[in-house]
Amino acid sequence: MNKTTSLEEEYRELVKKIYRLLDDDEFQRAVKIASYNAQIKVHEVLLKNPSIKELAREVEEIKKKVIRNLEQYVEDVLASFKRVGIRAYYAETPSEAREYIGSIVGKEKKIVLSKSMVAEEIQLRRYLEDLGNQVWETDLGELLVQLSGTKPMHSIAPAIHLSKKSAIRVLRNKLGLVVDEDDSVEKVVALVREKLRKVFLKADVGVSGANSIAVDTGAIFIVENEGNARLVTGLPEKHIVVTGVEKIVPTTIDALKVALVQSAYAGPFPPSYINIITGPSSTADIEHKRVYGAHGPRELHVVLINNGRIEASKHSILHNQLRCIRCGRCQFECPVFRHTANYWGGPVYGGPMGINWTAITNSIESATILSLLCLGCRRCDATCPVRIPLTDIIWYLKKKYMNTIGVT
Ligand code: SF4
Repeated sequence: MNKTTSLEEEYRELVKKIYRLLDDDEFQRAVKIASYNAQIKVHEVLLKNPSIKELAREVEEIKKKVIRNLEQYVEDVLASFKRVGIRAYYAETPSEAREYIGSIVGKEKKIVLSKSMVAEEIQLRRYLEDLGNQVWETDLGELLVQLSGTKPMHSIAPAIHLSKKSAIRVLRNKLGLVVDEDDSVEKVVALVREKLRKVFLKADVGVSGANSIAVDTGAIFIVENEGNARLVTGLPEKHIVVTGVEKIVPTTIDALKVALVQSAYAGPFPPSYINIITGPSSTADIEHKRVYGAHGPRELHVVLINNGRIEASKHSILHNQLRCIRCGRCQFECPVFRHTANYWGGPVYGGPMGINWTAITNSIESATILSLLCLGCRRCDATCPVRIPLTDIIWYLKKKYMNTIGVT
């Protein structure tokens, strides 16, 4: 099959899938409700906290500065990690990252994960399961995705495609919870909490992502609301952070700014928790001698992943996407995403940002076909907190596709 035919075949499959989704009333209703609620929430947050928009301008500039010199920042942050007792690894590819993590974890271990799109990007859960480990997603949405065998449908709200009834069915059938479809969400959440508490206590390793990481101190910022990331990063003997190199910022204050802007544009603001981690747990309470492994993890590992990001930082237009703080706002604003969720946009990331992230982490060619379904309405551009010209990048990909099929 030549290149054009295989792209056309992919496009036909995508369109067929979307037709099936359009006929799925439950899916359409669930994504519509989630998008609407998220839009209202973010609107209220920004009205009540006008200073967030100024902070977003600052984050935009901070990110631009880092992207212009990304390789140097990677070197600097790796040195900072070493200074504070963090074991750091730089992975060029997803397979290198998986191997590092596999060797830290070992086999037949109990692993708890807190939601991470980078872990999805490198197919980490499947890899760790294949090594013979027991792996639990602990974010409720991500747990539903794991149990239902689907993929995350939004960067911060992975289970938006499931209605309350479907979610309850999944938890009853796959997790053995004694719940009825008409039970309250409060009851369901309480039962999941009870179940996962036992899992947290027995876990050997916790794996998390990161929202931002600071060069000056090696501080790792993780934003969350459920409290699962606190347990994932605090209870097991080992904590592994897996994240992309674009999360680096120069200072700890910059990292806090990213966390605040990300949470405001995601909706729940201020978030219940902003975790700041700067090394394995330790104490110096006896004779002022530093000993690692107090109540928290004895070991802290960070796996920094490139997977196309450094190349993108030098690309004439793709470099803009690296400013993305993964708030997911552009997805909820997109009229196409509201009918497809992450089924459109790429194998991992979805919607407008997903197309562009696919070009970075997969290949430009694989993203070109996805760009064809973009309407060019520019709602994503208008709502992105760090003013990424999403539509211009998508337009670049459309032109690439036209070149591939010989239309210039
Ligand atoms: S592209 Fe902008 S709006 Fe979309 S997820 Fe990234 S930062 Fe948020």
